[in-house]
Amino acid sequence: MDLTWSDAEEAFRAEARSWLTEHLAAWRDGLGGEPLSGDTREGFAQHLVWESDLHAGGWAAVSWPTEVGGRGASLWEWLIFEEEYYRAGCPPRVTQNGIFLLAPTVFEFGTPEQQTHILPRMAAADDLWCQGWSEPNAGSDLASLAARAERMDGGWRLNGQKTWTTRGAFCTHLFGLFRTEPGSERHRGLSYLLVPLDTPGVTVRGFGRLDGDEGFAEVFFEDAFLADAALPGGVVLGDVGQGWSVAMATTGSERGLTLRSPGRFLATAGRLIELYAQEPQPRLRERVIDAWMRAEAYSLFTLDTVTRLTGGATMGAESSINKVWWSELDCDLHEIALDLLGADAELEGPWSKGWQFSLSGPIYAGTNEIQRNIAAERVLGLPRK
Ligand SMILES: Cc1cc2nc3c(=O)[nH]c(=O)nc-3n(C[C@H](O)[C@H](O)[C@H](O)COP(=O)(O)OP(=O)(O)OC[C@H]3O[C@@H](n4cnc5c(N)ncnc54)[C@H](O)[C@@H]3O)c2cc1C
Repeated sequence: MDLTWSDAEEAFRAEARSWLTEHLAAWRDGLGGEPLSGDTREGFAQHLVWESDLHAGGWAAVSWPTEVGGRGASLWEWLIFEEEYYRAGCPPRVTQNGIFLLAPTVFEFGTPEQQTHILPRMAAADDLWCQGWSEPNAGSDLASLAARAERMDGGWRLNGQKTWTTRGAFCTHLFGLFRTEPGSERHRGLSYLLVPLDTPGVTVRGFGRLDGDEGFAEVFFEDAFLADAALPGGVVLGDVGQGWSVAMATTGSERGLTLRSPGRFLATAGRLIELYAQEPQPRLRERVIDAWMRAEAYSLFTLDTVTRLTGGATMGAESSINKVWWSELDCDLHEIALDLLGADAELEGPWSKGWQFSLSGPIYAGTNEIQRNIAAERVLGLPRK
């Protein structure tokens, strides 16, 4: 196995590094202070400026074809870009639920017309997408969802409620799962709908998280009429009634390759090593090394994943194992840093904020208990009971 990067890939890395370093500094200077959280209204606006910079430089969606707003880079180059992105300390992507969750599904299931309309606008952050799956009575058991869409002349009438919609209060569009077959149960009779949030009858109500940021929204549908023509190519992604399979492709991206690339954890592990080096505490040495090794292992595992995907494989139930790995690693990296800092840890400091957010990792994208169930049944073939 040859793990060295080619000259062209090293050149790509150098180009990404120099662009990110220069433009990150310019963005931060323009803010005149530390960036606010992208989960606040003002901070979100700041992050949109950054997203525009990325897009103007051709870095918003590096692995997409250039015709739809990408750079035409390989998945390997995308991994390199992600490493450089987090190494440089670039901000969280407020467009992530579109670019990393919805877009791979649009590539897989969208019609050419949908792809041509949705993807360039997403890359340019003209349209901002949020994920409308969870409901007050449908979280882990997503198949019990009750939001419904009735077929009407020229469109769909939507009723129901979504919740935990990340940055929903700041987004323009929602991709959601709705029951489109009256009387259907569980995974059957669902469709994956694309909904402009300014559709009359849709109400988006932001609400605060424990850390105070307004990062979530509830979305209410009250006889909202979603016209077929609301988006060029139509508002259903995949076939009517096939929503569950389309949604499972999105979860493959969310838990698997795209949402949380190794670059993010390699950068955090690198910072943890630096923190340790400043004030070594031998009692924590083994934990620091173990966490760093797990970040490296995730990176190697992802190289294997990309090798398989570029060879034609698809991301299946294995993505659940991936998700457990990165989310638990993130918690540990931050927890060890706080142990190292001890009483010096600042409540609003980057390690504390990072730790608070890491705690949600085992919950979002499907809880880790559920991922362990999936891995046990579908990867290991263990009995359901
Ligand atoms: C930061 C964050 C962002 C999110 N963003 C979005 C978003 O943008 N869009 C969206 O639609 N949703 C989003 N969610 C919601 C997320 O998908 C749900 O919180 C998650 O699926 C769990 O559902 P729940 O909260 O209803 O918990 P529940 O399903 O009620 O689960 C409660 C507990 O019971 C356990 N449990 C449940 N069933 C089983 C079982 N069969 N076996 C073992 N244990 C079980 C769970 O693991 C959990 O510990 C987000 C959540 C977080 C924390």
